[in-house]
Amino acid sequence: MEKTTKGMSRRSFIGMGAVAAMAAGAAGLAGCAPAGGDSTAKTEDGGHIESAGSSAPSDVHIHNVTDTSWMTPPAEVTDFAKEWDCEAVVCGHGFAGITACRELAEQGKKVILIEKQPEDTYAAVGNEFASLNAKILQERGVPHIDPVEFYQNFMKITSNMPNPTLVMKFAQNSEENSNWYLDRLTEEDFATMTTAFFPPTEHQMGELSGIKFWPSVCSFYGECNQTKIQMYNQAAAEEAGAEFHFATTAEYIIMQDGAVAGLVASDADGYIKINCKAVVCACGGMGGNPEMMTYFMPDMAQALTGEDALTSMSANDGRGVQMAYWAGAHLETTPVAGMNMKGLAVPGKMNCLPQAVWIDENGRRFANEYYPTSEQRGYQTVFMSRKTKYAVVDNNFTEYRQYTLPQHAGFTANEENIASLRDS
Ligand SMILES: Cc1cc2nc3c(=O)[nH]c(=O)nc-3n(C[C@H](O)[C@H](O)[C@H](O)COP(=O)(O)OP(=O)(O)OC[C@H]3O[C@@H](n4cnc5c(N)ncnc54)[C@H](O)[C@@H]3O)c2cc1C
Repeated sequence: MEKTTKGMSRRSFIGMGAVAAMAAGAAGLAGCAPAGGDSTAKTEDGGHIESAGSSAPSDVHIHNVTDTSWMTPPAEVTDFAKEWDCEAVVCGHGFAGITACRELAEQGKKVILIEKQPEDTYAAVGNEFASLNAKILQERGVPHIDPVEFYQNFMKITSNMPNPTLVMKFAQNSEENSNWYLDRLTEEDFATMTTAFFPPTEHQMGELSGIKFWPSVCSFYGECNQTKIQMYNQAAAEEAGAEFHFATTAEYIIMQDGAVAGLVASDADGYIKINCKAVVCACGGMGGNPEMMTYFMPDMAQALTGEDALTSMSANDGRGVQMAYWAGAHLETTPVAGMNMKGLAVPGKMNCLPQAVWIDENGRRFANEYYPTSEQRGYQTVFMSRKTKYAVVDNNFTEYRQYTLPQHAGFTANEENIASLRDS
C-alpha cells in the first residue's frame, strides 16, 4: 500500500490549459508537474467530521473572495528618474513576452522589453512545451496531429469551457510558431532535445474512452534549456531593433482619454516614464498572490478545509492582470484554469498516486485511476474527505503498470523505470 502525501501542496502550480497536451520526461515521472511527494505522509484527518451519507468534508469554510485590495491602483507617480520613448512596451521576458517582443520588432515596431528579474540570474520557467507538428518532431517521426482533431479533443476534455478562438489559434499556428521559436537552435542544441513518451513503450496507449493523447512535446532538459532558447529569441529581437532592460519592474499603465499613453516602471534609480502607444502585459500568472488566486479560482478557494491551501510554484504576483484591470480591461468571469488541480493542496491529494486500484479510508474504490494524472484526476480530491487514500497493488504491478498514457506527469514504462519500480 502506498499512502498519499500532502507533499504535493508546496509544489503545485497554476499554468495554461495548453499544457494539457503535454507530457513528461526524465526518470519516469516528469514534466512540470510535481514529481513526488513528501516521504512523511500525513495520516491524521486534521479533525474533519464527515457528514452522513457524504464523503465530502463538512467543515468546508468559505474563503473571502471579496478581498480585492489588488483591484485598487497605486497612487499616481509624478517624479521620474528617467523617460524613454517607443511604440510598444512588453512587460515580462517569459514565453509570452519574448515572443511578442520579437514579433513586434520583426514587424518594424520600436519596442522595449522590461523584465523584473536581473539579467545574470534570469531563468525561464519549465522545460518542455507541447507542439503540434514542429519540424524537428516530424523529422524524428513523431505522429502528425490534425489541428481540428486536437481542437475537438481539447474542448471535450475541458467541458467546452475555454475560449474556442484561442484554442483553435493555438492548434492551427503551433507548427509555424514552434519552428519560428526554435529557428536559432544549432544541431548540437537539438541533439539534447527529447520527446517525452516517444518513441512509445511497448504497451503505451493513445486513447482512453474516446479521449486522445499524443506524445508531441519538445523537451529541453539538457544543455539547451528554455532559458537558452529565450535568449536566442532575445538576440533575434535585438537584431530587429528591440531594447531590453532587466531588473526593471512594470508598475502601471498610463491612460489618457481612454487610450494607452505609456507605462510607469521602476528600477534601482527610481521611476521611469515610458511614452508608448501599446503595452503588452506578459508578467505571467498570479501563483505568488494568494488573494488573487482566491478571487480567480472561487471553485477551489471555497472548497478549502482547515488544512488546505492554494499554493503554487510561481513567484509571479499577478501584476500584469492588475495593470490591465486598472487600465479598464474586463476580467474573465469563469473560474481560471489552473494546472495540477488548480493548485489545491490537501492532505489526501492524489496526483502522485500510481495507476493501481485506489481506495478511500473505508476501502471503497472511488475514481477512474487511469484518468490523466495531475490535472483532471487530482480534481476528484475536492469531493473526498481529507483522510489518507491508498493505492493497492499486487505482485503483477510492474506488468500492468506498462499500460500507460502519454500525459503530463505520466510514467514512462521503459525497462529501467519498471525495474526501479520493482525494486521500490
Ligand atoms: C515550476 C514550473 C514549471 C513549469 N514547467 C512547465 C513545462 O515544463 N512546460 C510547460 O509548458 N509549462 C510549464 N509550466 C507553466 C509555464 O511555465 C507557464 O505557463 C509559462 O511560463 C507562462 O508564460 P508567461 O510568459 O505567461 O509567464 P512567465 O514565463 O512566468 O513569464 C513572466 C515574466 O514576467 C516577469 N515579471 C513578472 N512581473 C513583472 C513586472 N511587474 N514587471 C516586469 N516583469 C515582470 C517575470 O519575472 C517573468 O520572467 C511551469 C510552471 C512552473 C511554475
